Amino acid sequence: MSSPSYKRILLKLSGEVLMGNQQYGIDPEFVAELALEVKQAKDSGLEVCLVIGGGNIFRGMAGAAKGMDRAQADYMGMLATVMNALAMQNALEQIGVQTRVQSAVQMDAVCEPVIRRRAERHLEKGRVVIFAAGVGAPYFTTDSGAALRAAEMRCDALLKGTSVDGVYDADPKTDPNAKRYDAVDYDTVLANNLKVMDASAVALCRDNNIPIVVFSIREKGNLARVLVGEGVQTIVQKGA
Ligand code: UDP
Repeated sequence: MSSPSYKRILLKLSGEVLMGNQQYGIDPEFVAELALEVKQAKDSGLEVCLVIGGGNIFRGMAGAAKGMDRAQADYMGMLATVMNALAMQNALEQIGVQTRVQSAVQMDAVCEPVIRRRAERHLEKGRVVIFAAGVGAPYFTTDSGAALRAAEMRCDALLKGTSVDGVYDADPKTDPNAKRYDAVDYDTVLANNLKVMDASAVALCRDNNIPIVVFSIREKGNLARVLVGEGVQTIVQKGA
């Protein structure tokens, strides 16, 4: 595979990767390891935007399934993403990476609001910008938040670091014959309901021609490998 020539990326990490080997919450040791990978990416000359999920703490759907009002539960989920963003900010700054957190739900005492022009300036100055609280509205997910920020910030790719090493044609946990795609078209993902990101996030990337690179962030050094076109990954793009 030829080496991709990204200048600016958006890295989306699912909340669950911050748990490390725990069942819930944040494992600071594991967050520190993730921060090292982000630092490496930045030190290679890339501009890095980050979006972190909240599933390690709270998911709105889970609250709704137990009888909570969905919108109320989703706001709790958004707050969870802010906690994760602050944890990642802490880990990055401890290793000398300058960061700013911008939240779609305004929280002046702890972070900035989302202001695109200000985010641009942060990136120019070599800071990592961590976008929290998704799109700032219930009934969405941080995948949609990631797609939105990737489009808004004109990122060259959306890298989705998760617990699986790519996109499969069936669930690899239940189907031993499941095959991983190296590359797949947006429309195949949508038509076959392949598990990459929510349909709205995939459609937003398709409409703005932003490739989605799905890879496992659980393996050390994988982000660096994926960024040079090596390593196990699936790329979702036009005409694949
Ligand atoms: N959420 C939301 N709107 C958004 C982003 C997130 O309501 O724009 C809520 C939603 O309840 C979601 C939770 O925040 O379940 C955590 O985000 P997500 O499930 O995307 O986290 P991940 O699965 O990536 O860890």
